[in-house]
Amino acid sequence: MYVRFIYCPECKELRPKSWYHYGDCILCGKKSVTINIPMSIFGYLMYAFSAVGIIFVAYEIAGIQTGLGDLRLFIMFGAIIAALVFSYIETNRATELAVEKAGKVR
Ligand SMILES: [Zn+2]
Repeated sequence: MYVRFIYCPECKELRPKSWYHYGDCILCGKKSVTINIPMSIFGYLMYAFSAVGIIFVAYEIAGIQTGLGDLRLFIMFGAIIAALVFSYIETNRATELAVEKAGKVR
């Protein structure tokens, strides 16, 4: 899996690539370069904790008993916070690498 960025050599603009984006620069409309940064362990941890968080939130909404008592709330919020923290670390790390790569484009 990759963290994707698009970089416009014209505007020197680096931004995270969204799933609906086709690859032209949002600002000038010129063709921009896609930069793929291999996802690190932090990215995978982010997905893992997000998945746990979503499952517990879904259980909570559906009223499914997990048999964990109040512990479920700690796991739920813990997983969501951990996902946010890892997402932050991963985004920073990937952005740094993408900036480095973008410097070599042209
Ligand atoms: Zn541009």
